[in-house]
Amino acid sequence: MGESAHNPGARPFNFSAGPAALPEAVLKQAAAEMLDWHGSGMSVMEMSHRGKHFGEILAQAQHDLRELLQVPASFRILFMQGGGLGHNGITPLNLAERLPGARVDTVVTGAWSQKSTQEARRYADVHVAASNAEGGFSAIPSPAAWQLREGLSYVHVCSNETIHGLEFQQLPDLRALGCDAPLVIDCSSHILSRAIDWSRVGVAFAGAQKNIGAAGLTIVIVREDLMAYAMPHCPSAFQWRLVADNESMYNTPPTWAIYVAGLVFQWIKAQGGVPAMEARAVAKSSLLYDALDSLPVFQTKVDAGSRSRMNVSFFLRDVALTPVFLSGAEARGMLQLRGHKSVGGVRASIYNAMPLEGVQTLVSYMREFAQHHG
Ligand code: PMP
Repeated sequence: MGESAHNPGARPFNFSAGPAALPEAVLKQAAAEMLDWHGSGMSVMEMSHRGKHFGEILAQAQHDLRELLQVPASFRILFMQGGGLGHNGITPLNLAERLPGARVDTVVTGAWSQKSTQEARRYADVHVAASNAEGGFSAIPSPAAWQLREGLSYVHVCSNETIHGLEFQQLPDLRALGCDAPLVIDCSSHILSRAIDWSRVGVAFAGAQKNIGAAGLTIVIVREDLMAYAMPHCPSAFQWRLVADNESMYNTPPTWAIYVAGLVFQWIKAQGGVPAMEARAVAKSSLLYDALDSLPVFQTKVDAGSRSRMNVSFFLRDVALTPVFLSGAEARGMLQLRGHKSVGGVRASIYNAMPLEGVQTLVSYMREFAQHHG
């Protein structure tokens, strides 16, 4: 890894949307344990998933995640593969036939809920209950205005839109809207940065490669009573009930990624848990949005009430300055700030592993840039 030109000796600040930066302490521990995990004589990558050592790693990771997110006993935690995109199909395969008609409503708030909607259409009768696409994904539509149908198998939302940078500040209370269907949340890009109100959720899924660890692992947290509805043609390795009954070992789980996730869970606990992560996320994102709001060279298209604390998407008003800004950032040791190709501009992903110092460095560079180009 090259050294940061701005901060010699230190690792650069990595703003990638995912796979994303990991806490340095976790990387160091994984490196130290690479050849011999706890005197076992094996790397975690070399262990049988059914052996005693990996059994300990999995049980501890599951225990820590349950504690960190205060997952009630009525929910199961599954360690699966497939990624966020895979679970946009795996979810309807497991849940769309909960009720006759396989009706699923979705709320479109950005690129990922749009993708989920398309994918669910392969397996279910899907209706978009609300969308802000016409408003350019600038705000999350108010739940009171959602057009939810009757007799739904479930309702899907993406609780943090990684590309457009919108986040539900509160999960919708479907019951208060007169809907008794379970809510499915894709929380891939903000899991563990805030508490989850489990009384409002039936299923939560998240790819690990943003706020948890290495790619290859997808965490699925499912309410026990929702595991009985898999379609007969749902692959057995992806049937929630089978995965749960086999303690996430119906087939080989992504062992290395589970181990890294476990190290991250321990790291979060040592930092003060999810409340500490949330406080940091508030501090980091406010610093950045305050700079965006006060420097006219930049612009964010997301309304204040819908702004993501994790993925801050912004633009240079003069688009010709975008590459200048990005190359200057890289020269100062700030990596992977380019916006997603579908929207352009700049995106700073500031997950749990991003220290406040990284955002301070970015903001002082933005101020310096605004002085030169304002
Ligand atoms: N959902 C969200 C919110 C995401 O951010 C992503 C990845 N950026 C996905 C789903 C897709 O994840 P994967 O690439 O792991 O399939």
